[in-house]
Amino acid sequence: MQYSPGGSFIPYGKQDINQADIDAVVNTLRSDYLTQGPVVPEFEKAVAEVVQAKHVVAVNSATSALHLACLALNLGPGDFLWTSPITFVASANCALYCNAQVDFVDINPDTGLIDISQLSLKLEVAEATGSLPKVVVPVHLAGTSCDMQAIKKLSIRYGFHIIEDASHAIGGSYKDIPVGSCQYSDIAIFSFHPVKIITSGEGGIATTNNTLLCERMKLLRSHGIVKDSSKFITAGAEPWKYEQQLLGYNYRMTDIHAALGLSQLQRLDSIVAERNRQRLLYFQLLEKSPVTFLTIPDNVLSSVHLAILRLHNLDPSFHGQVFNKLRELGIGVQLHYSPVHLQPFFQEFGFRTGDFVCAESYATNSFSIPLFPGLTDLQIQYIAEMIDQVVSC
Ligand SMILES: *Cc1c(COP(=O)(O)O)cnc(C)c1O
Repeated sequence: MQYSPGGSFIPYGKQDINQADIDAVVNTLRSDYLTQGPVVPEFEKAVAEVVQAKHVVAVNSATSALHLACLALNLGPGDFLWTSPITFVASANCALYCNAQVDFVDINPDTGLIDISQLSLKLEVAEATGSLPKVVVPVHLAGTSCDMQAIKKLSIRYGFHIIEDASHAIGGSYKDIPVGSCQYSDIAIFSFHPVKIITSGEGGIATTNNTLLCERMKLLRSHGIVKDSSKFITAGAEPWKYEQQLLGYNYRMTDIHAALGLSQLQRLDSIVAERNRQRLLYFQLLEKSPVTFLTIPDNVLSSVHLAILRLHNLDPSFHGQVFNKLRELGIGVQLHYSPVHLQPFFQEFGFRTGDFVCAESYATNSFSIPLFPGLTDLQIQYIAEMIDQVVSC
């Protein structure tokens, strides 16, 4: 077995924690509040400024943010949510939490993102059969924004809501507007899981410009309980009481997590720049290899959550060989993602192989390679060299 520089297994992604992050967390541990204190609102305010959204709601994961976003938009039984099959399962599961149904729209093979012409066609058919979606969830795969203006245009024509799954995309922009500004959507959500662009340990955030949606998500994140007596339903209730007005959840982010997220957010720009630099370096090193990188449209600044490559050799068994060989060489390649509609759980809903052919072929020839702040150029050179050897044979 050959070893990578440093001798250890190189994961596809990894958090970047510095002393300032550690100090911020320790300060919060020493403070009066571990949760429901001042740091969560501070973090929310800072994210709102960075993404240029009016309102933000911090929660304990992006999965919770997706659930709250669906609830706030009144997604429920009899409704449809559409998303991409090439995403993490949470983008689809949020509909099922609300007892709504899920369907998918195939991807564009060049970008890996939801295909606008497929979406358009599917909407046309759905309109004719009375099965239009209530919510569409475009996924900014690898940190690259979908064509939001086109999706917004379709949403006006067909009357659906838009939740951007921007789990990968904080720090990115579309047409020079930050992802999360909700210029072309109702709500955007971000993840702060350790493999994502910045982390709070676990955590997520929803952003919106709609005050009502923000209020609903805030209510639902904390049991549906109202503490402000001016908003009580019961007339003349004592101000020291509280009221539960809805069935909510405990999806709150702690101040400990928010402290880490807030500290990480301070270097968002340099993290995104470093991720773009590493992608470019790979791109140059692999220029002559029989692989193609997912395309980033000219009007998008990607946060480059992932570097995803597609093999020119389309033999499905070759894909498996590439994974095995690179992993043996200490390189943590991954598939992002197995098509959601082919997961055993989703097969129960009647989805089958052949339903979304571009997504299915993507899953048999794409792979993500290591990319994260802290990965050295020496490691990148080694990884590129090994990829070239393995894919060229
Ligand atoms: C990571 C991820 C999520 C879920 O994020 P959590 O914070 O782990 O709940 C949702 N959608 C996509 C596309 C993701 O990559």
